[in-house]
Amino acid sequence: MDKVLVTGGAGFIGSHFVKRILRGDDIAEVTVLDALTYAGHIENLGEAFLSPKLRFVHGNILDADLVGTLMREHTAVVHFAAESHVDRSFFAAGTFLKTNMLGTQTLADAAMRHGISKFVHVSTDEVYGPLPEGSATETNPLCPTVPYAASKAASDLVALSYFHTYGVPVCVTRSSNNYGPYQHPEKIIPLFATRLLRGQQVTLHGQGQHVRNWLHVEDNCAGIELVLRGGTPGEIYNVGGGTDCTNNELTDHLLRLCGAGRDSVVYVPDRRSNDIRYSMAWDKLAGLGYRPGQDFEEGLAETVDWYRRNPDRWAPLVRNPHAARATLAPAGE
Ligand code: NAD
Repeated sequence: MDKVLVTGGAGFIGSHFVKRILRGDDIAEVTVLDALTYAGHIENLGEAFLSPKLRFVHGNILDADLVGTLMREHTAVVHFAAESHVDRSFFAAGTFLKTNMLGTQTLADAAMRHGISKFVHVSTDEVYGPLPEGSATETNPLCPTVPYAASKAASDLVALSYFHTYGVPVCVTRSSNNYGPYQHPEKIIPLFATRLLRGQQVTLHGQGQHVRNWLHVEDNCAGIELVLRGGTPGEIYNVGGGTDCTNNELTDHLLRLCGAGRDSVVYVPDRRSNDIRYSMAWDKLAGLGYRPGQDFEEGLAETVDWYRRNPDRWAPLVRNPHAARATLAPAGE
């Protein structure tokens, strides 16, 4: 456990996770491997660079030589790196499959060759597909309906195949929608908050009736850390326990927090494959001690406040959502 390789650690969830595990006394070194795509920002790691335990490597999970070299130097891997935005996957399915599926295979292959003691593959509830009622357990069939979810389902299966075939100690975590500071403003909560804070309108698909479970990013990271430390190889763990909201309800919270009215909302025709509802049971992870603790309204208010206080972090991305920030010299590289 003492030397952990974290892929995608400059992204939203990965950066929270890195800050969290750096606090562990039994963690000697954390290496972040991140390609710094449009979604990765070295600034997300912020104060983590004060830790002598952190190393940053600017590179791609598809680079087998680099991945092999890094894997040799580590005892555990937590794999966040992915193309993560559903809407983009409609126009770039190939890129999603390459990064998410082949990237995972490249990592799992290197983990096999270098005797990694734990490989946590981070995934999503979207692989279960829409559930009009009830909740998915880890044994539910996979029914992804969009290229993003299909690429994640494929990556889950690839990762688990390395456990069954080669004994690589893989665990898969599947969480619901995360929210919190440092999320890219293309995702619904920061997208709506940053638009409303600038006095702009927001658009809701259909009647705003789609239900999502909102989990604070720190709760997800706590769940992932429990799996890293105590998960059984070959097992999948749902990370749920957030708050269920229709998109209308979520929007009402955001309107209130941003001081905007209902006239700021425009309804547009629903898009294809817009799953009506996701829901997961998370009893299995509770067995490892998981207890999601963040109050939704409080967490959402803090999140909006973070965007209000940090326009320098998101304004350039809103102006040019494709802007890569990889030109920044990564400290510690
Ligand atoms: P993100 O888009 O904010 O971050 C992804 C990170 O991966 C970025 O730093 C990016 O630069 C890096 N990356 C992308 N391609 C890479 C490559 N080829 N090589 C190296 N690095 C690369 O994503 P996120 O929201 O933090 O999600 C992290 C993981 O959690 C993803 O695997 C995602 O599928 C999963 N997940 C996210 C959510 C959510 O609500 N955000 C929910 C469930 C699961």
